Order: sequence, then C-alpha cells, then structure tokens
Amino acid sequence: MKSWKENIRRIDPYVPGEQPDLEDMIKLNTNENPYPPAPGIIKAMKEFDFDKLRLYPDPTASMLTDSLAKYYHVDKEQVFVGVGSDDVLAMAFLTFFNSKKPILFPDITYSFYEVWANLYKIPYERPQLDDNFKINKEDYYKKNGGVVIANPNAPTGIYENLEFIEEILLHNQNSVVIVDEAYIDFGGESAVRFVEKYENLLVVQTFSKSRSMAGMRIGFAIGHKDLIKALNDVKYSYNSYTMNQVSLCFGVPAIEDDIYFKETLKRIIDTRERTKVELKNLGFSFPDSMTNFIFATHPQIKAIDIFRALREKNIFVRHFNLSKIDNYLRISIGTDEEMDKFISALKEILC
Ligand code: PMP
Repeated sequence: MKSWKENIRRIDPYVPGEQPDLEDMIKLNTNENPYPPAPGIIKAMKEFDFDKLRLYPDPTASMLTDSLAKYYHVDKEQVFVGVGSDDVLAMAFLTFFNSKKPILFPDITYSFYEVWANLYKIPYERPQLDDNFKINKEDYYKKNGGVVIANPNAPTGIYENLEFIEEILLHNQNSVVIVDEAYIDFGGESAVRFVEKYENLLVVQTFSKSRSMAGMRIGFAIGHKDLIKALNDVKYSYNSYTMNQVSLCFGVPAIEDDIYFKETLKRIIDTRERTKVELKNLGFSFPDSMTNFIFATHPQIKAIDIFRALREKNIFVRHFNLSKIDNYLRISIGTDEEMDKFISALKEILC
C-alpha cells in the first residue's frame, strides 16, 4: 500500500436514515416533525435582507444565543449553538473527552456516540441496558473520562426522571456529563435546571424534532460558562462560522413562538398515545415512549419483514440491523392521517 494511503484516517461512519423523495410517501423513519415550522419563520423569510449574505455571519451567533438564553432563563455565556446537535455533540466530544479513562455510554443508544469516540480516538465503554432496555445507573458510578446519556434514550424512547439524572451527576463530579435531550420536549423534564448546581453538566438539545427544523440544522448546548467557553475555543480553532445567516435569522422566531410550539407538541403527543393503543391492539410490544417515535416489536412477524412490506407501500420506518434490536422497528410519529394509513397498512401486512 502506498504510504499516503496508510495515513488516511479510516472510520466506519454513522449511517443516517434514508431521505426518499417520493410522491405519496409516508415518512416515519427519521423522527422529523410532521408539522411545519413556526409561522413567524415565513415572516422572517419574507423580510430577510439578502444583502446580508455578502457578509460573514456573526461568529458569536448572538441573536440565537440571546434568544435561547432568554427562553431557558440562563446567561448567554451559558449557551453554545451549532449546526444541528450532531455538530454540538461532536464538538463536545472533541472538547471534553481527552482522558485516558474510557467515556461511558449505553450499548444501545444514539449510534453516533461510538462513531465520534472512534473518530477522535477516545477510549469508551458501553454498559449494557437491562433486559427491558433500561439504563442501570450504577454502571456509571465508576471512574471514567466522561459520561453521555441520551434522555429520553434513542432508539428505545425510554425517559428517566430528573432524580435518576441527578444520581448520575452526583456520582460523576470529576467528569463532564453530557445529557443529550434531542427528544425531551415530547413529555420529559429537562436537566437544564441542574446547570447552576453541576458545573460539569452539558445539556444538548436540537431544533430538528420538537421545533420542526431538521432541514435548517440548529442545535444548542446549555451549561456552565466555563464549559461553553471551552466549547467556543475549540469551535474557533475549527470553524468560526458554523452558524449561517439564514439559520440565525430563522432560528429566533422558532424559539419565540411558544404557543405554536406547545400546540404542535400536544398534537404529536396525542397522536403518539393513540398510536400506542393501536399498536398494542395489533400485538406489538414496545417500551413506553416519551419521544416522537415508538420502538416496537411483534411476536409473530419479523421486524425486517414488516419493514420491507411497509416500504413496498411507500411507508418508511427505521430498522437497525444491530444485535439485540434487529427485531424492532423505530416508528416516528406523523400526523393523525399518516398514522391511520400506517396502522391500516400494518393490518393488511399482519393478516
Ligand atoms: N441526538 C439524538 C439522540 C438523535 O436521535 C439525533 C437525531 N439523529 C441527534 C442527537 C442529532 O440531531 P440533529 O443533528 O438533527 O440536531
């Protein structure tokens, strides 16, 4: 092999869900929000000053960090923004996980954590979830180089309450604890309230799910100002202008319209609860979900067969070909109409 080839950084990449673009499809495979973003964004779009595109955007992204700080009742020095929470999490791994001790995250969780750990050569361990897909918090009470917990967890959908999260924080005061709250708005309570008490806590959220803006790519972290300063130092050593002008201008109205935000959340939660009943009636079982998806398995028909049969009907759900979860489907919650069609399709497939 040529020596330059030996020096290439090789990595098994994260595989995102497919983005088919078919007419009449029902897309329940990437946990997107079925409802449009806040109406204020259309106004912002109409008023957008295109001349601004000539200039570099504000590297501090202050419009957006100010708006988030106000919404979450923290100082703007406690807020970091990035190109989706993937960018924020990748930056956090690079910034905080530099110990020789392994970082800890569950064996079944957001699969990107393992990819970043490999990319940055961070040692890691993946304590196993129990047989009900629950995190054993005691597994995180040992020496480590950092802890990452998705709450609710993905793809299981299981939410742990704040006492559980605080127990993990209490046992990990010497490492940075990242709580990935990509799905927290769908019924959970955020650990943001702990950032004053635990200066090693970084809470990460996204506009992609609850705020209907997956296409815009906005994510953020809230934590102690020293953590945020460290994140910014790494960001400025990597790419000063992660947030483009359009994201800055459209992100603010997404935060400000709280009524619309809460209405859409309620609709999705109502549809999720209704879908749980329907799936149960069809014989599926699933951990109770506090997210905008349900992680379900059927006792008679293999998940992969259901996945394929749905696909033939242009209904897309997510199947992970990974041990322990390969007989499960992750089904995102769409509109009521989409879920009705999905349930009717399942009835046809199962009978
Ligand atoms: N964390 C979790 C647990 C997720 O499921 C996702 C979505 N794939 C993300 C983070 C990243 O979302 P985004 O980059 O769109 O903010």
